[in-house]
Amino acid sequence: MSERIKQLRDDFDRELGSVTADLEATALRDRWIGRKSGLLTAEMKTLGKLSPDERREAGQRLNELKDHVESEIALLQDGFAGRRDAEQLVRERIDITLPGRRIDSGHLHPITLLRQKIEDIFVSMGYHIEDGPEIETDFYNFDALNIPSAHPARSPQDTFYLGDHLALRSQTSTVQIHAMQRRQPPLRVIAPGRVFRRDTPDATHNPMFFQVEGLLVDRGITLGDLKGTIEEFVRRMFGPETMIRFRPSYFPFVEPGAEIDYTCFKCGGSGCRVCKGSGWIEMGGSGMVHPNVLKTVGIDPEQYSGFAFGLGLDRLCALMYGIDDIRLLYENDVRFLEQFS
Ligand SMILES: [Zn+2]
Repeated sequence: MSERIKQLRDDFDRELGSVTADLEATALRDRWIGRKSGLLTAEMKTLGKLSPDERREAGQRLNELKDHVESEIALLQDGFAGRRDAEQLVRERIDITLPGRRIDSGHLHPITLLRQKIEDIFVSMGYHIEDGPEIETDFYNFDALNIPSAHPARSPQDTFYLGDHLALRSQTSTVQIHAMQRRQPPLRVIAPGRVFRRDTPDATHNPMFFQVEGLLVDRGITLGDLKGTIEEFVRRMFGPETMIRFRPSYFPFVEPGAEIDYTCFKCGGSGCRVCKGSGWIEMGGSGMVHPNVLKTVGIDPEQYSGFAFGLGLDRLCALMYGIDDIRLLYENDVRFLEQFS
């Protein structure tokens, strides 16, 4: 019997030597000392056939072998567990020298930034910000602005109609009418907002764009006041050297009307890519409020006069930031927008 037990021990030691993983160690344990079919468990059951002396001797040897099996496998399993912990430590190591991950924060759209800058300038000049609906009736969008019924701007090819007498406003000038109905002169308002025209989108056109409208009505207001106001605005906006010029133009709601240009903020007037070599950049339309517009809202044009102007934000934004396609402003592409944070 003792020979046999020695052989068993050699067999176990050899099998133990070939174990390379935790699961194999568990299998080895089952194979040798499993409660039902372990080799040593079976061996124990044969002890009853031996004489009492032999049984004591063999029982002791078998128990020693069982202890040996248990302790060797436990040692092996401890080793595997230790290695696993060490590997996990390496895998989950935190490199404190790595730079942290930046948390992106939101910021305002470039059009909004520009609008706020313009608002700040006019508010500091005593203007207040006026708002109006984006859906307008024929009266506000056209009639009250002295735009005759045959005028091409009223054509469905230019204007987004929503029914017989409703349309998306095609200019922020509509807010002039609301403002003059709400309060009596003297009044100074600017009205930033979205306007809509049936334009085919391209690099310089979009069917929806932003305007800022300005209106001042008081006694004795002249074209000189308009010039002085715009001069003050462009100097604060683009720098103290900025100059303006007026080119006669026609808009139904002003008389006389003029297009305003200002000297290029990039080259100062000598000509560059931004101003296409001319030295001037178009700001927008302006003029003295037409007497018919004042009459429509119940203001006596004999006692009061006023000026109005409008400027487009989108093209100005494109020029100032060097954007060569204004459609980028509305595509909500984060890669584009994050440049303005
Ligand atoms: Zn220029």
